[in-house]
Amino acid sequence: MTNQDIAEIKELLASRKSIVIVTHKNPDGDAMGSSLGLYNFLVRKNHSVKVVTPNGYPAFLQWLPGDDKVIEHSESPERAENALKNADLIFCLDFNALRRIDKLGPLVKKAKAIKILIDHHLQPEKFAKYIMSDKKSCSTSQLLYDFISALGEKNLINKKIANCLYAGIMTDTLNFKIATTSANTHRIVGELMDAGAQNTLAYSKIFDTYNEDRMRLLGHSLVKEMKVLKEYNASFIALSRSDLKKHNFQKGDTEGFVNYPLSIEGIKFSALFMEMPDEIKISFRSKGNFDVNKFARKNFSGGGHANAAGGETHGSLDEAVTKFVSLLPEYKDQLLK
Ligand code: 5GP
Ligand code: MN
Repeated sequence: MTNQDIAEIKELLASRKSIVIVTHKNPDGDAMGSSLGLYNFLVRKNHSVKVVTPNGYPAFLQWLPGDDKVIEHSESPERAENALKNADLIFCLDFNALRRIDKLGPLVKKAKAIKILIDHHLQPEKFAKYIMSDKKSCSTSQLLYDFISALGEKNLINKKIANCLYAGIMTDTLNFKIATTSANTHRIVGELMDAGAQNTLAYSKIFDTYNEDRMRLLGHSLVKEMKVLKEYNASFIALSRSDLKKHNFQKGDTEGFVNYPLSIEGIKFSALFMEMPDEIKISFRSKGNFDVNKFARKNFSGGGHANAAGGETHGSLDEAVTKFVSLLPEYKDQLLK
């Protein structure tokens, strides 16, 4: 995004606008943190603002300020569609391609609004007039801070905005430990705390709110379902519909499970397979140079980042796992490096 772009956006935001903020399907902490951070910022600037998500998101994110205002397309398609139709501006946050917002994709594409994309995934699609994209940034929430800062309006960051952006940065950096966490990230987080962000509140709301079923599903995943393939430095967990049902699975319950195998010494590549009603949803994570974005793109119609990506298949759970395991020899050299 150039200085000229920023000047034009400043001009657009100088008078009251109808603004819609859209984020990716199955929104995560960064998707909701950045969207609600921007929501609270734009409301403060006296705009009419709506956040629209393709579908629902986990209970552990439903404390973020503005949560009660979010319109889920899967729940209220008409309200979501009208909001998009009538918007002057649409902000697209935390996704790089229109197919990542499901049924909202065609609606955003044909909406008359001016579109602004702010995102940190690789290879952004060029559907927006203004694009702020940086794959080196740890999170879209951090880019949101940069965006507000570029507008010269850091002084408007209040406790609500700070809590949203803090939660987004905290979750996408896996508590400030992944490699994209920079010194600048810590400086920004310091400023967010000065503006009122409550680190212990965010942590306890997001990580210390397991119910018993969820904790036992984690136990089951690690004890019964985790397979460790030492010869490839790889590991995976596959959860069937009955595993999920037995533990009263709710959206978000398996968040973070895919990271556990990476705590085994030597394991560099981890996958989580989940048998959902109409697809096998897969998450990939890696440590170091093994690029799961490439792996997911090539083999499981997915993508994401070099160390965190997702994908899906439409066969059975067994077929997905078999395919995964049969691909490993091809990647053995990279995985053993
Ligand atoms: P998760 O495993 O948490 O669902 O996703 C990890 C990362 O990969 C996130 O940044 C997410 O946006 C991205 N991702 C997940 N699923 C897909 C997918 O099907 N396609 C693409 N392009 N990215 C995905
Ligand atoms: Mn993100």
